[in-house]
Amino acid sequence: MDILGKEFGKKTFLINDANAAALGELYFGAAKGARNFIYITISTGIGGGFVIGGKLYTGARGIAGEVGHMTIDDDGPLCRCGNRGCWETLASGTALARAAKQRMKEGVRTSLLEDVDEIDKVTAEVIYKAAQAGDNLAGELIAQTGYYIGVGMANLINLFNPELIVIGGGLSHMGNKLLEPAYQVAGERAFGEAYKSVRFALAELGRNSGVIGAAMFALEEMKTEGKRKDEPGRRAAWSGHREGQF
Ligand SMILES: [Zn+2]
Repeated sequence: MDILGKEFGKKTFLINDANAAALGELYFGAAKGARNFIYITISTGIGGGFVIGGKLYTGARGIAGEVGHMTIDDDGPLCRCGNRGCWETLASGTALARAAKQRMKEGVRTSLLEDVDEIDKVTAEVIYKAAQAGDNLAGELIAQTGYYIGVGMANLINLFNPELIVIGGGLSHMGNKLLEPAYQVAGERAFGEAYKSVRFALAELGRNSGVIGAAMFALEEMKTEGKRKDEPGRRAAWSGHREGQF
């Protein structure tokens, strides 16, 4: 941040991509007007952002929203973060491709073998195309990925009782084949009242959501800084001696 600031002689701010995308969708996309919503992006991994009471929630050190690393299966596949069975090891495009490769190596019949010259070249996109063409294994694995997406969403619904979950990222383009099983499992697992009050929507800004959200974040931060400068009294009160108080 400091390096960029020095290089360009501009004020700089730092925000992670999924949080920025959440803000983009809040200001200009599928979450316009929402007060409590969760943005999730499902691609090679899974990222997220929480908007609570109309504001982005980033936690004590800006780490909140790492939904892809909540544990879904404590004995599941090893994650790049070092833990096992994180949500993104079961419900991302990478997880989908890994499951397909595994089943192909076990000798399951599938047209996927005709689509690529070697097993390791199977990607989520190849699997989606095969499912569209009626391949059973591809369809089954996409539904399984949807199942795990739903398990994670049930956790988020029970934790946050959001009014809206916005789903972005490459896998969201798979549509109902992936998302119908996800919504169904979320409905089966989340508390009834919490599930009834949540709406699902696809992200509307695509790749632009992060850029737009980052710009809005910087704008809001600069406004807040301006306000702080205008209110020296309030600032002093906050930095005052508060030892011994809760
Ligand atoms: Zn992880």
